[in-house]
Amino acid sequence: MRAGFTIPPSRVTPSLLQTPEAIVQHRCDYCGGHLGLIVDRYYRMRFCCKAHMSAYKQRLTIETRAKIRQLELLAPT
Ligand SMILES: [Zn+2]
Repeated sequence: MRAGFTIPPSRVTPSLLQTPEAIVQHRCDYCGGHLGLIVDRYYRMRFCCKAHMSAYKQRLTIETRAKIRQLELLAPT
């Protein structure tokens, strides 16, 4: 018989990779649904589709939009 050490590949702890907080962050800011591969971003918010992003924008008041524009100018990332 051959002697040797083999590390079982099943000994991986996925709980370290995905914390509950990380899962919460990957949700649409409009409907709360899970985000797919394509994520539409607006400022720091994420949306599952462009329709929800535009709907979210329309809910914002003009003052809020002005604030967001100022923040974008201060920290353009
Ligand atoms: Zn959505």
